[in-house]
Amino acid sequence: MADRRWKIHKFGGSSLADAECFRRVTGILLDCDELRLGVVVSAMGGMTDVLINLAILAERDDDRFKKELDAIGERYSDTSGSLLDGDSLVAVLDAWGQDASDIMGILTAIARVKSAPQRSRDIVAGYGEIWSARLLAACLEQSSPQRGGTWIDARNIVTVRQTELGPAVLWDVSQAKMDKVVAADFEGIAVITGFIATDEQGLQTTLGRNGSDHSAAIFAALSGASELIIWTDVDGIMSADPRLVPEAQVIERLTYDEAMELAYFGAKVLHPQTLGPAVDNDIPIIIRNSRNPSHPGSRISAEAIAADNIKGITAIGGIALLNLEGAGMIGVPGTADRLFAALKNAGVSVTLISQASSEHSICIAVPHDVAELARKVVTDAFADELESGQIQSVEVTEAQSIIAVVGDGMAGRPGIAARFFGTLGRAGINIRAIAQGSSERNISAVVDSKEATKALRAVHSGFYLSAKTLSIGLLGPGGVGSALLRQIDKQAERLRTDFNLDLRVRAIARSKKMLLGDTSIDLGHWQDVFDADALEYNLEQLETHINPDHLPHAVIIDCTASELVAGQYAGWLERGIHVVTPNKKAFSGSMTDHARLRTAARMGNSHCLFETTVGAALPIITTLRDLIHTGDTIRSIEGIFSGTLAYLFNVYDGTRAFSEIVNEARASGFTEPDPRDDLSGMDVARKLTILARELGQDIEIGDFPVQSLVPESLRDCSIDEYLQRLPEFDADFHARYEKAQADNKKLRYLARLGPDASASVGLEAVDAKHPFANINLTDNIVQFKTDRYADNPLVIQGPGAGPQVTAGGVFGDLLRLAQYLSPGA
Ligand code: ADP
Ligand code: ASP
Ligand code: MG
Repeated sequence: MADRRWKIHKFGGSSLADAECFRRVTGILLDCDELRLGVVVSAMGGMTDVLINLAILAERDDDRFKKELDAIGERYSDTSGSLLDGDSLVAVLDAWGQDASDIMGILTAIARVKSAPQRSRDIVAGYGEIWSARLLAACLEQSSPQRGGTWIDARNIVTVRQTELGPAVLWDVSQAKMDKVVAADFEGIAVITGFIATDEQGLQTTLGRNGSDHSAAIFAALSGASELIIWTDVDGIMSADPRLVPEAQVIERLTYDEAMELAYFGAKVLHPQTLGPAVDNDIPIIIRNSRNPSHPGSRISAEAIAADNIKGITAIGGIALLNLEGAGMIGVPGTADRLFAALKNAGVSVTLISQASSEHSICIAVPHDVAELARKVVTDAFADELESGQIQSVEVTEAQSIIAVVGDGMAGRPGIAARFFGTLGRAGINIRAIAQGSSERNISAVVDSKEATKALRAVHSGFYLSAKTLSIGLLGPGGVGSALLRQIDKQAERLRTDFNLDLRVRAIARSKKMLLGDTSIDLGHWQDVFDADALEYNLEQLETHINPDHLPHAVIIDCTASELVAGQYAGWLERGIHVVTPNKKAFSGSMTDHARLRTAARMGNSHCLFETTVGAALPIITTLRDLIHTGDTIRSIEGIFSGTLAYLFNVYDGTRAFSEIVNEARASGFTEPDPRDDLSGMDVARKLTILARELGQDIEIGDFPVQSLVPESLRDCSIDEYLQRLPEFDADFHARYEKAQADNKKLRYLARLGPDASASVGLEAVDAKHPFANINLTDNIVQFKTDRYADNPLVIQGPGAGPQVTAGGVFGDLLRLAQYLSPGA
């Protein structure tokens, strides 16, 4: 037999904002195959605010209320007009016209007496729900005459008593009315107005702002529904307010208690009262997105599931802290009682309580708008103690927010509080008060409101993001940079699933333009997005963007050769941003600058990785460090550090002129655009400097001989002139070649480093059998002689240039960085 139980759906204002929304909602409902559907609706998005404002305008006798009412009419008739036709459109608009003239009557009366009684306000505010219900019922009827067409005015059913704690449902009365209004054999879709109800006197009232969720839960209880589905504009209850925390994730399952705690502490997607009727009747609540109905949403029920994390984090602002302090409270029973009695009598509700176990002070959090009242009643209640000095002061601190982490799974699990306070501490946020309920379902901290968002983001990243989430900015997407982006794009998914490593490239900058991405830039099409959306280059803006509060680590990858960019490293490192780079400039400049880098990294607790500055991806710096750290003594480092020079002397065999080979190499892209940058030996000298500094030597360029292969007379001319005049020197090169050949030697451009800072760079003739004489094309080769590798040196050889290998080396540094940041994770 078909299930005759009701299913209740609720659509909030965000799901009913315009005609497109109504069409979507109609589709969702007609797709449901239950026999009996109740659909509770809110007013169209923003409508209730506008209606409330009408009464405010009228109260001030400001006749703009007429224009505003006309504007509502226009919005409603436009929406209806694009959804309905024929008689049903006429019927809906006629009904609206009748309502509008009733509203006009009320507003005119308000304007006349310049005062709007609560009842009149409630009546005006409640029309939004009536209009939505009427319109949705008509849409459903138009698409499915058998199932649609019914709408129920909740004022004929829901009866409440207004109390200090909000509306209390009179269940027996409401149930009796429900049974009378809704036929026992009803089948189809009944649209129901949310928000509005009737009070004991039979007059209209409302369930308070955002009350439609409550209406929906009441109808779920009255109809004995199997489920309550609340449709909104987010995929479910999120781990934090998605408007404040871009990284927020959907919580798949929650218990009623967890949802209640989150709702109470400000997760605005749900209202605490909603849960009562559902909990009492054990009706599961599902939060879903009407704009993305394929997402399963969040399910709230009595069932707990084992979880190894908290459920959510919330922030509520507009809080004041009241602190009662004095030695006179120690060991005196009843102080807390008197405090809370005074607050209760004044109708002040307390949001959080914290008492030091010394009993020297009690601290409470209250809503900011009752802070003054609270101070007054507490000061009065303790007037005697204040006078005698037993209590020193009643202090109020305004502009506070409560940050709360919530989850049943926290009970009995050590480490949650440590993580919570640890992340707040690392983000530099000062905590004013702390409270943990003994249910261990909630830990709360009070912080200054101006730091609340930062606190929320920091805590969220501490609990939800992989500790290996890297926010990356890449400077210089040229040959190496763009190869690196392709490599990251290909590997990202696997690194995420296999190693929990989350690489998010969030900025890419060329010299004049830069692209910033929110979560991460789609690396499959970054060039197109760059062309369309790039902003003016601004390094400061880029830095702020990649180093936000809500991501645990930021890295800048510098693939430029710029000295200007290199000059920024120290600042970045100091501010905790890691640096990965193949750019040699920062490490081969002055000793003072170099020393500053090390201090900066220590201060910022950050890392700077630059393996690819020597021999591209060949593991030269890593090997050298391993040798040193494991206690070996380096006697010498020698080798060929330039792929370009290696190539030139590999190919030069005396049969062709040296100048011809230089030209050919330049044409094949084996040299810098100006080949003198390679032939001057400066590039090799920089690499040698970097290695010497790893050995602890205080060396600078200029301290050791560097033999330039650029003839003196050609050092200052244009590239063209240089290339044109180079043949004048072919004879010199040939003579050197002949001499080496005669001694059974080969010409090689070598770098040498001894233990006593005896560095040198220059052209030498090496024995034809020596490993340096037997390398391939653009190979680099480095030979370490050490105490351990004394007779037979350690040799590293292989391609030491090229965009692909260099990018691979930079990528390797990035992975090493992730390892440093979260060892063992
Ligand atoms: P509706 O109009 O459907 O009732 P609301 O605006 O009342 O929608 O509630 C949905 C909004 O609640 C979301 O758009 C989101 O911005 C906000 N929100 C705040 N905290 C959370 C949270 N923890 N999870 C999901 N949404 C949240
Ligand atoms: N329309 C009402 C409001 O805006 C009720 C609701 O949407 O839940 O407060
Ligand atoms: Mg809502």
